[in-house]
Amino acid sequence: MARNPRYDILFEPVRIGPVTARNRFYAVPHAAGMTNAMPHMRAAFRGTKAQGGWGVVCSGYVSIDPGSDDAPLPYATLWDEDDVRSHALMTEAVHAHGALAGVELWHGGGSVMNRSTRLPPLSPSGTAWMATHVNFMGNQRPKVMDAADIRALIASQAAAARRAVSAGFDIVYVYAGMGYLPYEFLLPEWNRRSDAYGGSVPNRVRIVRELLEATHEAVGGKCAVALRISLEELRARPSETEASEAHEVVALLKDLPDLWDVKLDSSPTDCAPSRFAAEGSHEGIVDFVKKITDRPVVGVGRFTSPDTMVSQIRRGVLDLIGAARPSIADPFLPRKIDEGREHDIRECIGCNICISSWHDGVPVRCTQNPTIGEEWRRGWHPERIAPAASNAAVLVVGAGPAGLECALSLGRRGYEVTLAEATDELGGRLRFETRLPGLAAWGRVLDWRRGQLERLANVNVYRGNRLSAADILELAPTHVVLATGARWTRLLYSPLEVPAGELAGPDVFTPDDVAAGARLESPVVVYDYDNYYMGSVLAEHLAREGHSVSYVTPAGHASAWSIMSNEQPQVHRALFACGIALHTLARVVGLARGELHLERQFTSVPLVLPCASLIIVGARLAEDTLQRALAARADELSAAAVRSVTAIGDALAPGAIVHAVYSGHRYARELDADPDSSGARRDAPLPRLA
Ligand code: ADP
Ligand code: SF4
Repeated sequence: MARNPRYDILFEPVRIGPVTARNRFYAVPHAAGMTNAMPHMRAAFRGTKAQGGWGVVCSGYVSIDPGSDDAPLPYATLWDEDDVRSHALMTEAVHAHGALAGVELWHGGGSVMNRSTRLPPLSPSGTAWMATHVNFMGNQRPKVMDAADIRALIASQAAAARRAVSAGFDIVYVYAGMGYLPYEFLLPEWNRRSDAYGGSVPNRVRIVRELLEATHEAVGGKCAVALRISLEELRARPSETEASEAHEVVALLKDLPDLWDVKLDSSPTDCAPSRFAAEGSHEGIVDFVKKITDRPVVGVGRFTSPDTMVSQIRRGVLDLIGAARPSIADPFLPRKIDEGREHDIRECIGCNICISSWHDGVPVRCTQNPTIGEEWRRGWHPERIAPAASNAAVLVVGAGPAGLECALSLGRRGYEVTLAEATDELGGRLRFETRLPGLAAWGRVLDWRRGQLERLANVNVYRGNRLSAADILELAPTHVVLATGARWTRLLYSPLEVPAGELAGPDVFTPDDVAAGARLESPVVVYDYDNYYMGSVLAEHLAREGHSVSYVTPAGHASAWSIMSNEQPQVHRALFACGIALHTLARVVGLARGELHLERQFTSVPLVLPCASLIIVGARLAEDTLQRALAARADELSAAAVRSVTAIGDALAPGAIVHAVYSGHRYARELDADPDSSGARRDAPLPRLA
């Protein structure tokens, strides 16, 4: 298919200092959990994006010297010649597909703890990031940088830039964003200096200017020099000479970088979940930059729609369409637009499981794209899959995320697939969850798979078909895949911090009951020890329906795990905005005569809340009725030549949607594969030369 001429503008080359990007698609620096200890995984991951058509593919954050150590979070290093060789694998992989390679040189300043190198962290005035969440707390406060520290910082940046040139990078960054060291100089909260680096905006910006100058000198015109800068806080500050301090900073530096990479200041706003922010949510902060500088500007905004991308360029907001998440969910996004296949784009749903992978310290995972991070380790390509290795017929039971992904991937391999769903609608848990506040975009998990399935003649989809063991015996497929999901339980939470003791009663419900339309009476209490989105989103949903709602959790925060997906601050704001009373560190112990009895988590102090309907959002158990029925008829199955029965997704081990999709995909990849060759390869650092 030919490209829609409306999108031609996206494929214009863009000059960035001494280098030229082949098009406007720019995979920005983003953490992906692959450190120098995983150089082959990292190279294949970034190389696949280049193959998918991105004009520029950047690294994650790369420390310039041992004074910037983010352990245990997974960061990369460019400290010596061994590191150069490690990164060279990535630049080679990116260049092999005609893209430019960028490197985000980084110093964490007072936002890192140097837990591994044990050097004192540095900051302009000894200010530390005093995070409200334990994941980001530390006990060491930074040293106030003196003049020698400043000279050393600039020398380190220059040395790392020279190493970046040797590693083959085309674009080298100065990173003044997200609470890291050069950014700390820009804001008076961090910078209380009285020397030439503090006080007025020109003084506060001096370090960024000097870093840019040193980087230019170090790369000697061989690479472009980019400035990545967070503008949210600065834009909110009045300036004596310009519309805001952000305008002043950009005006002061406007001709110095070859490229402006503009973003917001904190992970929850910069990488905002779709539950709380729409596509293009950065525009109101970064839209002024192009009016001040002639240099190309790149920015992000979870862009997946080519029309939105074109609009950003035509309206003079951006020159290059930056993407982290959309390039993870679909590394082939540019190629699909180029080939007139924009309907094939696997659109990011904005769930932020990818960012949670970085917080967890592991290689990137994605709800929409199960192949991400597995390009080298398992040899999975996002667009290619091995043809069927037998003429087996496969029955997939259940069309939730796991069953849909499994049927689709088996179908792409060429197997004869039957997908049977009990209800009249596909989607499994998505049927209900995408109707909850803020979760509509998650429907893309279903939409994309349904759209792709419709084009596969070898996959037959049957709705309204609840299969029994007898039905399966009658169908007698070669393989049975059970993707029957999981159910929420009424189990309470014990002081041992495990689910225990079911709470029965007509006024006790689960999310499944709410999904099935249970009639609830106010006041409603949502009791959440699942800790992800379901508890808070249900509370919000019920409050919007007019119920009086309280939210109770044994954890210290609402949706405690969602700190990992950048959602927690907004979850608290959303609950507050809906008038939902929040009770943290509290366990439900009983419900009687409209009174809910709680105990404080650590002190066991009792507390009573009025409650006409209690919703327990706690433990889930696999829906294994069919599994057990089939196991009881194993002999009949083998007589019917059924060779295997396998549970996948929530029916195997209840998890988030990302787990279900991955499980479905993995089954499809591994069917008929040689068990000795289908495992994951283990990556290792390159042997040291020094
Ligand atoms: P997962 O997240 O693992 O994909 P879901 O709970 O989202 O799981 O989806 C499971 C799907 O399986 C639901 O749509 C449910 O209706 C369907 N299902 C459960 N049991 C049967 C059955 N016996 N026959 C057909 N479909 C079933
Ligand atoms: Fe998008 Fe979610 Fe995938 Fe991240 S994990 S890229 S937010 S779909």
